[in-house]
Amino acid sequence: MQIKKFTFNPIQENMYIIYDEAKECIIIDPGCYFHHEREELVDFISENNLKPIKLINTHCHLDHICGNKYVAETWGLKLEASILDEYNLERSIQAGKLYNMPIEPSPPIEVDLKEGDEIRFGNSLLTILFTPGHSAGSLSFYSEEHKILIAGDVLFKMSIGRTDLPGGDFDTLISTIKTKLFILPEETIVYSGHGDETTIGDEMKYNPFLV
Ligand SMILES: [Zn+2]
Repeated sequence: MQIKKFTFNPIQENMYIIYDEAKECIIIDPGCYFHHEREELVDFISENNLKPIKLINTHCHLDHICGNKYVAETWGLKLEASILDEYNLERSIQAGKLYNMPIEPSPPIEVDLKEGDEIRFGNSLLTILFTPGHSAGSLSFYSEEHKILIAGDVLFKMSIGRTDLPGGDFDTLISTIKTKLFILPEETIVYSGHGDETTIGDEMKYNPFLV
């Protein structure tokens, strides 16, 4: 399983392309905002002969969805996310004005992802964990085989997601991390929505919000 990270848009969000030797790929949290970022994405996909088959959001904050429309239209994909985060899609135009980052409206969520659902592409599999607290419908994606976690804005290297936005709740977030993420193997590599990779073990030992 290969993971390509792009850090895009004025909020410096990490979007991920995940693929394997079968060359199907999934696109998670397309933060591609500027023209040159979208060109970089298209170039990467064509240079690697990838076939995008899924468009998925960990959650629907502005910086994670601003490329949804572009990706959906370019590759003919339906948006997959938790319907519990739809309120963020609805407020994203307003949020874009607030952050001085006007965006194109995202297509609606057509596939409602839930705890335990499987994301299949190529010869690979990710399992969905329902991980609310940063937003009401935040999801994380886990590969047991490869010990990889796509965590969105739930858990960061030495930090956690903010909980002051609508649908955020501090106690829920802490409980999510302790009961859903800190039960994973310590060597699991965590790919977050912002910043560098980390591991579950390092965060259990050193994350100041959780020790
Ligand atoms: Zn967020």
